[in-house]
Amino acid sequence: GTGTATWVYDFSEGNKDQKDLLGGKGANLAEMTNLGLPVPPGFTITTDACRYYLEHGSTPPDLGDQVTEHLTALEKAMGKTLGDPSDPLLVSVRSGAAASMPGMMETVLNVGLNDESVRGLATQSGSERFAWDSYRRLIQMFGKTVLDLDGELFEHALDEAKQEQGTESDLDLDAGHLEDVVGRFKAIVREQCGRDFPQDPREQLDLAINAVFDSWNSGRAILYRRRERIPCDAGTAVNVVAMVFGNLGMDSGTGVAFTRDPGSGEQGVYGDYLQNAQGEDVVAGIRNTVPLPELERIDEGAYRELLSIMSTLESHYRDLCDIEFTVERNKLWMLQTRVGKRTAGAAFRIATQLVDEGLIDMDEAVRRVTGDQLAQLMFPRFVSGGDATQLTQGMNASPGAAVGKAVFSSETAVQWADRGEEVVLVRRETNPDDLSGMIAAEGVLTSRGGKTSHAAVVARGMGKTCVCGAEELQVDTKNRRFTAPGGTVVEEGDVISIDGSTGAVWLGEVPVEAPAVVRYFEGEIDPDSAEADDLVRSVHRILTHADEVRRLDVRTNADTPEDTARARRFGARGIGLCRTEHMFLGDRRQLVEKLILAEDDEGKQAALDALAPLQRQDFLEIFEAMDGLPVTVRLLDPPLHEFLPDLTDLSVRVAVAEAQGHPDEANLRLLAAVRRLHEQNPMLGLRGVRLGLVVQGLFAMQVRAIAEAACERKRAGGDPRPEIMIPLVGAVQELEAIREESEQVLAAVFQECGVELDVLIGTMIEVPRAALTAAEIASSAEFFSFGTNDLTQMTWGFSRDDVEAAFFHAYLDKGIFGVSPFESLDRPGVGRLVEVAVQEGRSARPELKLGVCGEHGGDPDSVHFFHEVGLDYVSCSPFRVPVARLEAGRAAL
Ligand code: ADP
Ligand code: MG
Ligand code: MG
Repeated sequence: GTGTATWVYDFSEGNKDQKDLLGGKGANLAEMTNLGLPVPPGFTITTDACRYYLEHGSTPPDLGDQVTEHLTALEKAMGKTLGDPSDPLLVSVRSGAAASMPGMMETVLNVGLNDESVRGLATQSGSERFAWDSYRRLIQMFGKTVLDLDGELFEHALDEAKQEQGTESDLDLDAGHLEDVVGRFKAIVREQCGRDFPQDPREQLDLAINAVFDSWNSGRAILYRRRERIPCDAGTAVNVVAMVFGNLGMDSGTGVAFTRDPGSGEQGVYGDYLQNAQGEDVVAGIRNTVPLPELERIDEGAYRELLSIMSTLESHYRDLCDIEFTVERNKLWMLQTRVGKRTAGAAFRIATQLVDEGLIDMDEAVRRVTGDQLAQLMFPRFVSGGDATQLTQGMNASPGAAVGKAVFSSETAVQWADRGEEVVLVRRETNPDDLSGMIAAEGVLTSRGGKTSHAAVVARGMGKTCVCGAEELQVDTKNRRFTAPGGTVVEEGDVISIDGSTGAVWLGEVPVEAPAVVRYFEGEIDPDSAEADDLVRSVHRILTHADEVRRLDVRTNADTPEDTARARRFGARGIGLCRTEHMFLGDRRQLVEKLILAEDDEGKQAALDALAPLQRQDFLEIFEAMDGLPVTVRLLDPPLHEFLPDLTDLSVRVAVAEAQGHPDEANLRLLAAVRRLHEQNPMLGLRGVRLGLVVQGLFAMQVRAIAEAACERKRAGGDPRPEIMIPLVGAVQELEAIREESEQVLAAVFQECGVELDVLIGTMIEVPRAALTAAEIASSAEFFSFGTNDLTQMTWGFSRDDVEAAFFHAYLDKGIFGVSPFESLDRPGVGRLVEVAVQEGRSARPELKLGVCGEHGGDPDSVHFFHEVGLDYVSCSPFRVPVARLEAGRAAL
């Protein structure tokens, strides 16, 4: 076309709903600008421009002109020119994607300073120290971000300068020292890059913009996106913002604030403030911050204005906001806001608080929390006691109870976790390079930094336990140990326990208990009683509303009376999968062995007769626990040989007996059977319905046990609702044969008992062929239950037990999966088969009942998919039942 694209928007031209185009930071800076809040002027380069750059390897041809146009307007507004030697305009160049990725990409401050303008800045500000401090920050950030130099080079040079002055604080370096640091920094750039630090302000700006684009594909950004399931092609926007200075003296500073406590949801003044500081000093934890309420004493005017802006933002966004601000010589500036991350508990509390304040309705409250958050609230907590000793108390940065071996580097955390160890990552402070270690660890402990430090922010986002700012601990990462008050030394590998809800740190393992939310689901806490705290009340209100709005039923996968009863307390409305295989383990394995080895019908029948009463008793108790609700019993599914001894073990035993001269006849026969039944590929072998068709009488015995148990319950005044489910069907003929046999058994038992019961007979859909021939299969099935574990294995052609350790890691790394297809349903592949089966099945039999009983039934994203394709219910493990109830509600809104 002839029209030119718009790549750049002034802050006054955007709004908060343009996150995709302007990134979250740019959209919210625009929103604040238009609300009339004190935002330094600036403009945003769009994510479109970033995508263009990433695709073509160069910026759009007309981008430079558009930047010039907006820069000129900015210079006019500020009455200064970028990098002017006598009175320079300085800008920050800030990344900001649509999805929040805290600290993952890059920002460069003080762009526009060079050997000349640093002097102009000194004159204009009246502070030489400030000017040189700003210049050294520019070279440091520019060197690391734009020139790709190792940040440690600069940190070491700065440390050296501090050591020479005998100080640990950068505040003790004066203008002369800082000018000297600038000299050392410039030398580092020259040595490492073979060129001088660029003096041309516009070149600095353009290089910084491209570096922000490039930072979209930094290793840590890629890792973060994968974890948070953020699309990898979205790109970042770039914000160019006129600098304001928090490092102009003690009447200046920079800080972070939350409109509510992101840990608990409580209303109040939360945040950290650091005097005479710039940019990331607060988050990096390099000096200790003061709690935000102290700003009142330091600068009452700025404090009052900040509080008033916070309340404006909360009612405008109708949610908790977090804020970055700077005070320049008593003048408050807003540098960022967004709807803030929060802990799971805070998310629930805040949602119902906002309902009570009239800002949102209950539908919106249900949307504002997630199943993952609810799952976090169900994690166990520490109980006091045990023989662990408390070492110290840090800050409660992200709740939870973590126990593990202390490790002192991200690499060790990853290595040890890979070999199955639970570890707690201990650092002085974390930085974005620690991300992989934080993911691998059970929890994170730091000795520096407040609740807004990198460790705290990232841990909260991941729902990982974190204690930060445990200042009494001397962390020595080099020698892999820390020292606690009193001289206790904790070495790498020692077990420690950290409590992210209280900040306590123990040496040893502290025992854990069920949290209040679980006790509420168990029925032990009445949500209307005084015993219920506001978290329990929030969870209760939100789940009650989710139950009202959801269309999907939630059942459970349970095969013991205890699990059944618990799932029912947790809100399950029936059993979607009662496995019968565990019922054949333990002492009963002998009986199965007899069944398999029986050489004649008599022996077979004897084994079946011995199993039948045991099965009946199992079902009796489960029907009782799920009285009045459907119980789907799956007939025996696993390969028969799983009930026999291990081939190698048995061979050795037989060989030893023979060598000793007294061969064991029974074992010899057993060995022959084990050999006969051994399979190369058991997952694709003799199992499920194939077993029922080959081992005569096995399924009939199970059906009889189900029917007899149901009759007994019925006669005892109960309301049993059994459903019989045939696993691994691929052809309707398989199902027809078993159905015929089952119906005969049912009719016979009902006649014997004089009882009438309606028993549905259906099938699992877990072989791709079953999905593809669903219309035919539906002619013989009254229900389908998608077995998405097997369906995933067979659709992809890999076995879960073998592949997860073997190559899933590589697949995730290469981005072949965003997430394991066993964790979250693969919509385009496996999901497509589900859709086909739903449509064909329903068109052949409109009243066909449809459910899912794979582990995906408790996965939030998968629950939304099952809602969308129109299933009747999901079934999941008892502890996931509340999660599925909530997500089914959210899916319906
Ligand atoms: P992040 O996304 O990592 O938070 P930001 O772009 O928000 O990165 O920049 C980090 C910090 O740099 C901000 O919190 C703010 O303190 C500081 N900063 C950014 N732009 C400016 C500016 N124009 N003036 C003063 N400080 C700034
Ligand atoms: Mg920021
Ligand atoms: Mg299966």
